[in-house]
Amino acid sequence: MMASGIEHKPTFCRICEPLCGMIATVEDGRLTALRPDREHPLSAGFACQKGIAFTEVVNDPDRVTTPLKRTPDGFEPVSWDSALDDIAARCDAIHRRHGSGAFGWYMGNPAAFSYAHLFGAMTFAKGVGRDSHFFTSSSQDTSSRLLASQFLYGSPMTVPIPDLLRTDLLVLIGANPMVSHGSFLTAPRIKDRMHDIVRRGGRVVVIDPRRSETAAQFEWLGVIADSDAYLLLSVLQVFFAEGLVSEAARAQSHGLDWLAAEVAEFTPEVTQVHTGVTPDTLRALARDLAATPRSAVYGRLGTCVGRNGTLVTYLIDAVNLVAGSLDRPGGSVFGTLGIPGQKWGSKLMGAALRRTYRTKRTRIGGMRTVIGAEPAALMAKEMTTAGHRQIRAMFVGAGNPVLSLPNGAELEDALESLDLMVGLDLYVNETHAHCDYVLPVTTMYERDDFAVTFQQFQATPFRQATDAVVTPAGQCRTEWDIIVDLISRIRTRTPVFAALRAGQRIAGRSGRRLSPRPVIDMMIRMSDGGDRFGLRRNGLNFRRLATAHPHGVVVAPDIRTGVLDEVVAYRHGKVELEHDGIGDEIIALVRRKRPADFPMRMIGMREPRSENSWMHNAPLLMRGERTQRALMHVDDAAARDIADGDTATVRSPFGEIAVPVALTADIVPGTIAIPHGWGHRGTGGWRIANRAGGVNVNQLMSSDPADVEALAGMSWLTGVPVQVASATPSR
Ligand code: SF4
Repeated sequence: MMASGIEHKPTFCRICEPLCGMIATVEDGRLTALRPDREHPLSAGFACQKGIAFTEVVNDPDRVTTPLKRTPDGFEPVSWDSALDDIAARCDAIHRRHGSGAFGWYMGNPAAFSYAHLFGAMTFAKGVGRDSHFFTSSSQDTSSRLLASQFLYGSPMTVPIPDLLRTDLLVLIGANPMVSHGSFLTAPRIKDRMHDIVRRGGRVVVIDPRRSETAAQFEWLGVIADSDAYLLLSVLQVFFAEGLVSEAARAQSHGLDWLAAEVAEFTPEVTQVHTGVTPDTLRALARDLAATPRSAVYGRLGTCVGRNGTLVTYLIDAVNLVAGSLDRPGGSVFGTLGIPGQKWGSKLMGAALRRTYRTKRTRIGGMRTVIGAEPAALMAKEMTTAGHRQIRAMFVGAGNPVLSLPNGAELEDALESLDLMVGLDLYVNETHAHCDYVLPVTTMYERDDFAVTFQQFQATPFRQATDAVVTPAGQCRTEWDIIVDLISRIRTRTPVFAALRAGQRIAGRSGRRLSPRPVIDMMIRMSDGGDRFGLRRNGLNFRRLATAHPHGVVVAPDIRTGVLDEVVAYRHGKVELEHDGIGDEIIALVRRKRPADFPMRMIGMREPRSENSWMHNAPLLMRGERTQRALMHVDDAAARDIADGDTATVRSPFGEIAVPVALTADIVPGTIAIPHGWGHRGTGGWRIANRAGGVNVNQLMSSDPADVEALAGMSWLTGVPVQVASATPSR
């Protein structure tokens, strides 16, 4: 709609996974406001404060809008030609001297929300040569979930989600959807959907060391931090001991007897000391799951980044399996795209990724890789350890690993040792402060998009595509365009780079730019609701979605069930329960001792007005002189002479920070919860974030390979043993 230079354009938010519908107000080509889209079929007029505040990010005066080069006097603007010519020449020199193993790429979480970024980063990181290093934020977030899927279903892409709209018992472990808005689960208005469960007579149970914002609205079962593996082993033990295992589980899986033997010793009486959950409570939970035909257990970040993330995720799915909830309406279900032949593609890809997992090891620590990505906790050591494949050129896109990886101080030192470092981002953050070049990229409202990553995690199958609603600020470009331009200047010949240059030449002859959009278009056209290239009248394609259906289209009312044979990538088509790695993790769990002189446990905490490390520069989100606060129990504080608002010293075996604390009774005693993403010390170029400051909680974490989760290489970010003391002089 257009009136006197003002347009109101339907689009969608891509900060987090619900992808809420938005109406962008554009005045004379400038984004001036965002409001929730009432006509969006699923978000229906909802958007959170971060989504609304994004206008401030787009127009932020601290945003990078020209290529920047680091000089002895700080960053200075340079032209694209000058930046890319120099980067290309330095890439050629590094490749010539050291080979592709000298290149590393770190891809941050926002890349998952941009097809242009995903395709661009993968093209460079994998195309530069077979020895390159590829890191993503997934080893701080999702790798353990993906690997558990690879073990159980044969493919990391086969990830079950709770059937939110039909379940009668939803058990959340280490998840706080009231603040995260859902993760590995695209469900706009998730708060309403959870209340719907209760309204129709069901229950939502939240298992967490903290009475989180979600737990406060439903039933809370407080547990000792990072004890989920024990709790789930006991739930399974009760299922087997009491004969509650469903018949469906026997038909759907291989290895139930192996699993029964593995869990046999973990009676609720044995695990109580680890979990803090009484045997009666635990048995009641298991029996409720067994007795509720439509139940689903769902775990998220808290279950993924503890000491045993892969084991815990595996156990969550095993509970859903034995309860008979897997692949059943109201249970734990698998989103599918409905693309013809997808089943065989998934089997082939699963086999390839399993082979990579078996055969490939990281240079440092000998760890395995999940979906081709190395554990990011080892990134600094990959830069500083001499030898073949030592990283000398590093690219960081939409990430701030100095704040998000364990031991950010070590990484900062390592970054300074590189021959070349390039950042692609909206801001000069604490990581990009170490770059030779920072290249300006588009925000989500300055590019077209289709959320390819999240299609299979939708609680209601849905499609939405958008065009850019404004032109890019300054000289900003998409990551894809930057990378194509860079590769076209690099002289090094690799098969991928040569193919890309040839594609670019062919596209150029007809006055076009090479783009990955046809791949996205093909996916839309071939999947449920798609036009199948003209075979289905009025079916969807990218253009039709963006123009004829700008608010999006629900393509099916519910997720299809009975698809296990389609989504399991093993040839036998069944869930595979028996894995040596899982058995080894159970043994390691039992042998592990808690250090006696670190009696408390630190857990992470999401905040409604933060998005990891990158939204602390929006005035709307930082209003009220907002600062970082840890949460600890009133009794723990009293024992340490700590008052509300005092600063506490938190020390782990690996580091120490000082952080102001707020006191509460809504946390299990012995736990301190500290929000992540803070620690802006003035090295970045974001002035509001710098004023807010805070401390980097990941200084308490270890980047030693021995402390990285053994199976998926997950950073250990929660349940870290700590001492807490008052840092305030005695009163
Ligand atoms: S919940 Fe997420 S997707 Fe929705 S408006 Fe907020 S940040 Fe955007």
